[in-house]
Amino acid sequence: MQSVAIIGAGIAGLRCALLLKESGINVQVFERESHVGGRMLTDHVDGFLIDHGFHVMQTAYPTSQRVFDFKLLGAKAFEPGAIVVKKKEQKAKFWRLADPFRRPVQGLLTGLNGFASPFNLLRIAFLRAKVRRGPLSNVFSEGDESSEAWLLKRGFSQSMIDEFFHPLFSGIFLENELRTSERMLRFVFRMMSSGDMVLPKEGISAAPRFLADQLGSERIHLNSNVKQIDDSTLSVNGQNQNFDVIVHAYNPHRKESNRHVWTLHFDAPQSPLSSKHIVLNGDVKTKSQLIAHVAVPSDIQPSYAPDGRSLVTVTIVGEAAQKLGLSKKEEIQNKALLELTDWFGTQVDDWSILAIQHIEHALPEFGPQSGLSKEPTMKEGGFECGDHMMHGSVEGALLSAESTFQRVLSSLQN
Ligand SMILES: Cc1cc2nc3c(=O)[nH]c(=O)nc-3n(C[C@H](O)[C@H](O)[C@H](O)COP(=O)(O)OP(=O)(O)OC[C@H]3O[C@@H](n4cnc5c(N)ncnc54)[C@H](O)[C@@H]3O)c2cc1C
Repeated sequence: MQSVAIIGAGIAGLRCALLLKESGINVQVFERESHVGGRMLTDHVDGFLIDHGFHVMQTAYPTSQRVFDFKLLGAKAFEPGAIVVKKKEQKAKFWRLADPFRRPVQGLLTGLNGFASPFNLLRIAFLRAKVRRGPLSNVFSEGDESSEAWLLKRGFSQSMIDEFFHPLFSGIFLENELRTSERMLRFVFRMMSSGDMVLPKEGISAAPRFLADQLGSERIHLNSNVKQIDDSTLSVNGQNQNFDVIVHAYNPHRKESNRHVWTLHFDAPQSPLSSKHIVLNGDVKTKSQLIAHVAVPSDIQPSYAPDGRSLVTVTIVGEAAQKLGLSKKEEIQNKALLELTDWFGTQVDDWSILAIQHIEHALPEFGPQSGLSKEPTMKEGGFECGDHMMHGSVEGALLSAESTFQRVLSSLQN
């Protein structure tokens, strides 16, 4: 029986391994950590489910749709659209921006609530129609400028970009300039307007576990210190093992990416929100604030908090904190609490911190001209997969895994 070693049990390594197993190949996965899932990780803290970074699955991702059973994962969805908050003299003002195509009544109210001019709302409708038109590969075949340049070209006002697109996409791309390729913006916008943003019942780590369970624990070797000796030999915890093919399912240059994120998780007696939306900070860019967005995962998925409690998750783009000269947990927490109090008032005094996470090298760097195409890139002369070969998302990781699987299979057949 032919054998393949996969180094790395993130979502890409697991997907590639599963396809190889289904093709009758003896596949063994070696992971240096004590858990599978790589960046998709969930901690259990005092009855709360604490994901590493605010992390959602998109039901519209075509590969994810094939690979995951969202029903089995007990996935539940956020409301489409978002709430934008801005600090005013006396108290904060909240605007609900509904998706008029999926929530027509609320969408109509959005048109009347005064947050965006009718021109900007029309442009959003055009944008939505444009990114949804034609095959998905279209979003990767047009221009490749920065997201901000593309939005400006499409006629959005600078204030609409700063107050809506910036908090939304800086919190997704984990960078503070919207320098990410416009292709990624078109892709994410299309996915968000075609499907739901969901959380699995058992936390985000349930997604890689779903794959690991199908693969079988006997094929997954955790806490493995591996070193490649030559094309077909791996030293595993000091012992040599031979394979027909070795696949590297991780980004060897991950540390070169500067995309980092702070995530604060609070235990709250009750949810500060009355709807299942994500809250975007409309002041983050214009007033040099810290928080990009806030979500209450337990409103969507009650399993994220014990009975009678709420989990409030705050996302701060690392570069935004850096710009304000903040790098210590305590400083970040104090500044975030000031912003949260401006929005939600004295109820914030009753919140207690469950975790402050600083996730470094969170996503691969994909600026303009970085070659984001409809197919994952391939490493010449070796086998590699992971989101860095496509784009920083679950979908990117899965696509690269499937493409690498095909290459491994043809190499074994030759
Ligand atoms: C904070 C945050 C929020 C995110 N939010 C979203 C989101 O909402 N939606 C979305 O689609 N995507 C999101 N992503 C991106 C998504 O998590 C990643 O694209 C995806 O998990 C990448 O999977 P991967 O298998 O390519 O890499 P990884 O998850 O990094 O897996 C690589 C694995 O290889 C292991 N490894 C590395 N070197 C070795 C070695 N020498 N020996 C053995 N093992 C090794 C690592 O320990 C790791 O387990 C987010 C990422 C972060 C960090």
